[in-house]
Amino acid sequence: MTDNYSLNTDEHSGNYYKIDKPEEACGVFGIYAPGEDVTKLTYFGLYALQHRGQESAGIATIQGDKIYTHKGMGLVSQVFNESILQQLPGNIGIGHTRYSTTGSSRIINAQPTVVETHLGPLATAHNGNLVNTVELREKLIRRGCDFKSTTDSEMITLAIATELKTGKSWLEAAMSAFHLCQGAFSLTIATPEGLMGVRDPHGIRPLVIGTLESVNPKKYVLASETCALDIIGAEYMRDVEPGELVWITEKGMASFHWSEKPQRKLCIFEMIYFARPDSMTERGSLYSYRLKIGRQLAKESLISADMVIGVPDSGIPAAIGFSLESGITYAEGLIKNRYVGRTFIQPTQHMRESGIRMKLNPLKDVLEGKRVIIVDDSIVRGNTSKKIVKALRDAGAIEVHMRISSPPVTHPCFYGIDTDSQEQLIGATKSVAEIAEQIGVDSLAYLSWEGMLKSTEEDPNSFCSACFTGNYPIPLPERLKLSKVMLDNPVKV
Ligand code: AMP
Repeated sequence: MTDNYSLNTDEHSGNYYKIDKPEEACGVFGIYAPGEDVTKLTYFGLYALQHRGQESAGIATIQGDKIYTHKGMGLVSQVFNESILQQLPGNIGIGHTRYSTTGSSRIINAQPTVVETHLGPLATAHNGNLVNTVELREKLIRRGCDFKSTTDSEMITLAIATELKTGKSWLEAAMSAFHLCQGAFSLTIATPEGLMGVRDPHGIRPLVIGTLESVNPKKYVLASETCALDIIGAEYMRDVEPGELVWITEKGMASFHWSEKPQRKLCIFEMIYFARPDSMTERGSLYSYRLKIGRQLAKESLISADMVIGVPDSGIPAAIGFSLESGITYAEGLIKNRYVGRTFIQPTQHMRESGIRMKLNPLKDVLEGKRVIIVDDSIVRGNTSKKIVKALRDAGAIEVHMRISSPPVTHPCFYGIDTDSQEQLIGATKSVAEIAEQIGVDSLAYLSWEGMLKSTEEDPNSFCSACFTGNYPIPLPERLKLSKVMLDNPVKV
């Protein structure tokens, strides 16, 4: 979801309003399960999707034609308790965990977004970013919409609501509304008639379907990742396809391909870093993929050392893969305090840096006098790596070789991963040798782009890897690019 923050002119009213700060990945969940404790199942689904967003959490349930909603700032376990959950009865539920970014941290932007329509309540939970928010907002203003939040997610909800006003059914209204949206959107949508799961024509953000198999008739679950199915005992059925809408009602699940030219462009960064390693794609777990890219990294950039260690948690599977391929012993050299959040949820640079000290502690007796290969999933701005390298040297490592299981991040994401302006991305402004010098390593190597894609064992064209190449599969309006300060001459990899 996007929080709209920079000022721009509204051509129609002459007023200034806020637009487009592309930001975050989020977690979405949905369940259609009459007779089950839908609210608790939604709670636990969100609990498993906590890594996708720690800023706010929310659940909306529908029973009959009534909607019950609770949203709050903070972690799922902080926002909900037994008594709050009991006040949310329903046969259909959706939920959302929202990613944190500076400035947009407001309850008003928490999801699900809810509106009342003449057919009853409508609630949506959105993961991704729209890229045509200015045009969409203008259209919705012309249709007489009032905005309560500053998010593109609310625009999607209002687009559906305004389409309903023309006499369309839920399904027809939703499909017309999606044609107005450009960008990345994986959605779960609750209505009194049923639950929808939708992906944009490129399927940039993930969305999976599961069933509560043991129950007859089948009851369906939708989630950003399969780890949210596992936690509630649901079985993974398949992914919602790019440009597909699944409509789950008392009649079962129906599938509609609402977009003319779907073309899968799944975000490769989900595979490398963002999604949980125990989540599955149709090819296997992301843990297996990360092992594979670790092996590939070793094939591409082996160096002699005494041990391979990973940066917990995201660098560990690739470090194990590197060790398996190279035969160099895998060891634990950094211990993570699991009770502090990801460092990137902290708003200031200063806090980010101290967050790393809070989070990782090197094991002196393991590292002392050793030549160490340290594997991490990515370098974005370079701050984390610099701190880690210093910590390893302070703990007695005599050589530190860094290996990264993705190519240099050179371009910001406009489709839902929180990356800085291009000028902040170290891979866009410095060569690999300069980065090595800045972070203080004896050697540095990144995984090749080809190696990253080959290891998926899928068609390389079915992924979005714009953060590594600048080839954005969905065209970006100029003003949107400006919101992330694009450089004239980024470093060519
Ligand atoms: P830095 O280079 O200091 O920006 O941090 C890179 C580290 O943050 C890597 O170890 C990644 O695990 C993690 N990371 C990668 N992408 C993101 C992101 N979009 N937001 C926050 N952290 C990230």
